Amino acid sequence: MNSDISPIGTDVITVILKSADKRVYSFGELGDFDYYLLDDELWALAVSTYLRGYPRWRVRLTRGFALGDYVLIKQSARTGLEKLIKHEIGHTLGKGHTLLPTIMNPSWLFRWFDRL
Ligand SMILES: [Zn+2]
Repeated sequence: MNSDISPIGTDVITVILKSADKRVYSFGELGDFDYYLLDDELWALAVSTYLRGYPRWRVRLTRGFALGDYVLIKQSARTGLEKLIKHEIGHTLGKGHTLLPTIMNPSWLFRWFDRL
């Protein structure tokens, strides 16, 4: 057995981070955060690796997610992109979903609020 082989998940995130379009989002007083835009091919790789087991409809509606400190965004996502980035940054800061009218409300209806 080759002990140099790292877990599949580690290899995949390495590929994604190397190939994706790295951007910086300035989140006001919270500071600057990196996020990664994934083209369709990378997005398919990310989804099949990290969203395995999610219902198909949910995967189809997902346009971004946080993986530890990394924010991965589907490049073709356009509508509400800034809110989506903020929402995912919120996850990297340890925020979970809430029913309150904040950016962390998982419903798109409430993402017109900018506060975490
Ligand atoms: Zn979320």
